[in-house]
Amino acid sequence: MYPNFLIQQYSIDAEVDFGQGIKTQMKTGTQQGCKTSPHLFDAVVHSYLKDKGLFTEFADCQINAIHDDMIFRAPIRRAIPLFRRLVQLFAEIGLSVNEDKTQVLFRGNIARIEEVEGLEGIKEITSNITGDGMVFGGIPFGNDRFISDYVISKVVEYEDLSNRMLANSTGRNVGSIFSIVRFCLSAKWPYLMRSISSHIWDTEYQGSTLGKYIDSVTLNTILRHMDITQYRQELSDSELDSLHIRMGLKLKNGGLGIHSVTDYCDSAMLGMWATNAQDILSLLGPLSDTEKDSLQHSRSITHISDTARTMKTRFAEDNAFTPAQAMDIGLRSGKLSTMELLTMLTKHAATDNDDNRKLKGGKHQGKLRSALNLYIANRYADSIVRPDAGVAARKCNPYLRAFIAQRSLTANRWLNRIHRDKRARLLTDADVKIAFWITAGINLIVVDRKCSRCKMDPVNWFEHGQVCKKSRKRRQDDNQVKYFARSWALHKSIQILMNECLAKIPDVNVTEQNPKFLDTFLANPENPPPPSKDSDNSDDQNHVDEEMEPRIHRGRVVADGTLMEDKRLKSDIKIITTFEEQPVPILIDITVATTHAVSHHPHTIKGTNGDIYASKLADYGAHLKDKKHAHYLHDGNAIGFAFDSMGGISKPAKDLIDHLYARGEQEKRRRWDSETMRVALKKEFLDRLSMVLCIHRVYDFKFLGIPNMRAQGAQLAHPPHRTLRH
Ligand SMILES: [Zn+2]
Repeated sequence: MYPNFLIQQYSIDAEVDFGQGIKTQMKTGTQQGCKTSPHLFDAVVHSYLKDKGLFTEFADCQINAIHDDMIFRAPIRRAIPLFRRLVQLFAEIGLSVNEDKTQVLFRGNIARIEEVEGLEGIKEITSNITGDGMVFGGIPFGNDRFISDYVISKVVEYEDLSNRMLANSTGRNVGSIFSIVRFCLSAKWPYLMRSISSHIWDTEYQGSTLGKYIDSVTLNTILRHMDITQYRQELSDSELDSLHIRMGLKLKNGGLGIHSVTDYCDSAMLGMWATNAQDILSLLGPLSDTEKDSLQHSRSITHISDTARTMKTRFAEDNAFTPAQAMDIGLRSGKLSTMELLTMLTKHAATDNDDNRKLKGGKHQGKLRSALNLYIANRYADSIVRPDAGVAARKCNPYLRAFIAQRSLTANRWLNRIHRDKRARLLTDADVKIAFWITAGINLIVVDRKCSRCKMDPVNWFEHGQVCKKSRKRRQDDNQVKYFARSWALHKSIQILMNECLAKIPDVNVTEQNPKFLDTFLANPENPPPPSKDSDNSDDQNHVDEEMEPRIHRGRVVADGTLMEDKRLKSDIKIITTFEEQPVPILIDITVATTHAVSHHPHTIKGTNGDIYASKLADYGAHLKDKKHAHYLHDGNAIGFAFDSMGGISKPAKDLIDHLYARGEQEKRRRWDSETMRVALKKEFLDRLSMVLCIHRVYDFKFLGIPNMRAQGAQLAHPPHRTLRH
């Protein structure tokens, strides 16, 4: 049956669909692209070999396979018989061994290999006999030089791929390049990082090290079309260093979420070893005391324990993590804490005792990487302003405020949509570049000078766009120029987005826009709402006039001027959820606090629980809303849906999103089409929220007149007069 099955699978002509009408025919092979294909292949081949008694016949040999790649270790006399038997068995199921790819690793004098008893005639099988090492399943093993040569060949390939991609792209593909580098190109390294120790990545290469060289290729690929010289002079060395660090940080740690080799090769290798140590050791069979001793003092094992020791020392530093962070990553808590894991590895890489059994199969790699990511993000924040520099120095640094706010669930998620078309990501190609540089914490104008709009002098441009009171203006019907705050337009954008996204959730109905609180909730007799004439929207005082005139978005009136006629407090959106016992009305009150506004500075450098690496500004915004909502008996159903302008999200907003997109258990049965759909909708909403906050950060700069020209290192707000050549 198996031969027929395989032959049949291999003879199906499959159609591969790339979407958008691009299809191609695949003539042979199992159906690729289907996750089960390789497993099906493995299962069939394995059962066949087992049925034919291969594993009992050659019980003294180790046979391993990764799909169509096979390797075996055998006693000298058994090697050739095993090879011939395999060739024969494969032939029976229509598979043949590729002679060009057949290789022998022999630890002895290769020139005289055929003189060894049992290996006579081995050169007829293959002339490819080496003592250095070989590659199995894409992973090299052998001596250091062999491994570093293999990595170098991969680096050359990587660089070539990057160059070809850049040659075939323009500034218009800048978003796609980012995503290809993030999800495809750089994503090939973790596979090698797991099995290659850091001394290989530290090998000197092209005036740098292999690891650093790879990371530079990755970063330069992204930066090429972002072209900073459109705006200002080249990045300084310290800016480049900072970009390298941010590149490797996760989105939720304020980073760009791209794989970097230098910082994370150690956590990958340690994690892989911890998970698989027992299996690897058991392959060696029972060891004598002398063998065990020489294993434990071998270079690989010593390297693992040394690496673990270094990491443990760093994690144990006084301010490595805040107490809340330490809880989150299970530094000293949980079934197997991160510190315990590292301690086990420091003892001869957990080869000694029962430790390797306890570690077997755990998700150690992810755990170590998360901890390391957090550690590096904390050190990066410290490098912007030292933690002991004092509150004044910390709160006055716009880069620190921005980075801390970006260490949140939503801030950098817009990068997930960077490759989409203009409509889906809201940003034009030019906008993407500005958005990228702001997100990466790079100032587009490096010279502080007077703002020609509001005359403030001097200003730091990185923060000024958000706070300039004169950069946004509009000419009214009566030809008068009016200035308006960023928050009003942003507020409306979020409202539009929510209407669209919440409407897709089953059991949630968006029922009203700008509903009055008193129409839904009773006034709180113990804390009654202030008389209506005073309650005119006091939190919106900056743009109270804006509400007078209708606001048009994409040809539709999204806000009319009714607010001033009725001064009772209103929220933005009313929804009714129907997955509780009774329908529940919820009023959503949107607010975005400006990270760089001076009055907000104190809230930006310390989180709600005192954590110096988190911002409480969004929570503060929610708190102000809560105070206002306390005038009504809303039973927790009036929500301050608060953000900060760098994209930080408040706890009430996050909780509401989690509640609306919950899976739903028995009594709160939800009507999601599928789990996949639920997860996708939630992700879409969060990504688009982040995107809306992002586009307004881009507007900050565009309203200031950026980008407009190059000017010897600093961007000018107005282009100089040009002399026309005749
Ligand atoms: Zn200004």
